[in-house]
Amino acid sequence: MTSDPYESLGVRRRINAAGALTRLGGAVMAPEVVAAMAAASRASVDIGELQDAASTRIAEATGAEAGLVTTGAAAALTLAAAAAIARWDIAKMAALPHAESFPCDILIPRTHRTGYAHALSAAGARLVDIGHNDRGTGAGVRGLEAWEIETVLTPSVVAMAFSANAASLVDLPAVAAVCRANGIPLIVDAAAQLPPKENLRRFFALGADLVTFSGGKALGGPQASGILAGRRDLVASALLQQLDMDVSPETWVPPRLVDRANLRGVPHHGIGRGFKAGKEEIVGLLTALDRFVKADDAVDNAVLEARLKAIASALNGFKVTLMPAAQTGRVPVLEIAVADALALSAHLQRGDPPVHLSERHAARGVLTLDPQVLLPEHDAPLAAAIRTALQSSEPAPSSR
Ligand SMILES: *Cc1c(COP(=O)(O)O)cnc(C)c1O
Repeated sequence: MTSDPYESLGVRRRINAAGALTRLGGAVMAPEVVAAMAAASRASVDIGELQDAASTRIAEATGAEAGLVTTGAAAALTLAAAAAIARWDIAKMAALPHAESFPCDILIPRTHRTGYAHALSAAGARLVDIGHNDRGTGAGVRGLEAWEIETVLTPSVVAMAFSANAASLVDLPAVAAVCRANGIPLIVDAAAQLPPKENLRRFFALGADLVTFSGGKALGGPQASGILAGRRDLVASALLQQLDMDVSPETWVPPRLVDRANLRGVPHHGIGRGFKAGKEEIVGLLTALDRFVKADDAVDNAVLEARLKAIASALNGFKVTLMPAAQTGRVPVLEIAVADALALSAHLQRGDPPVHLSERHAARGVLTLDPQVLLPEHDAPLAAAIRTALQSSEPAPSSR
């Protein structure tokens, strides 16, 4: 009896070969995840108790002490910053995002200051740019160095931020060692560092204190979900600042993660109150995490590669290269070399149905066909749309 919600709203369905992008709706959830969310929605539960259970599951999957379901990796960054600033101090929790009167500096390597750094400052943190990091800028061979962090460690520093990717990873152990030696929590943004699933544990093994993951990207969870995992005291502070705290101190039962003896009172709604994770997101994320951990990446990548090969053969005559998962470090992709990548991308997005390829490598004349959330029934229409677009916009391959 369910009618198509998008059709009734007049919103077009799109062919997504650009990946689990937030602006395209993130992951496409497996039926098992959808069913778990629907079942979760038809009950009342204590959200603190549910987050305790989530913490146990996330700890098992990541090797961290504790974990929390958030409304995305960006929300997890804001909560991580709030936890690093406030710790167990409920007066600081009440003050955020106004943190000027107490320590609130978060160190961030210059080349790690992504668009998502805003999520850290949203908690009230003052971001302090550090380092030369010529490797990060492409200007030289040296990465971030220990002395560059040590020089700026003052009592106003509450945390260090690190944006994980294939290029920055090599610096993580040294950064973690300095942070550990000086008692500074290290927050690693690993939102889009899955797959491979080994990365669920990797950043903790390399010394991170808090790590964020998106739930609505490769994990295949609800679009508005994410994970903050790491040190128990910091995760507990983040949880407190996210929970609904309109409670009577006399009857409040804190989550097990929170040791009430550390609190000098009962906090009010914190900075994270607007980022509430619902029971549906929490259960959906945990179901997706369980599937992600159990999946056989080699089998899944072989299936994706076979689909990409079929699409590539439908595009024969054009410059199409299959990049296997071993080369991309995540899922296999097709690279399509074109004269004007952004023009072709714009053309495809204007199609019926609209088609999206990844513009990640447009600057070097490549559109990337990323099959991460591509529905199998879209393979054929996608190949046909790209072929038509290439024929109309590109010089015939023989004339090159
Ligand atoms: C996607 C992304 C985020 C934000 O994740 P959400 O789950 O959408 O909030 C943060 N950092 C990086 C590096 C990302 O790629």
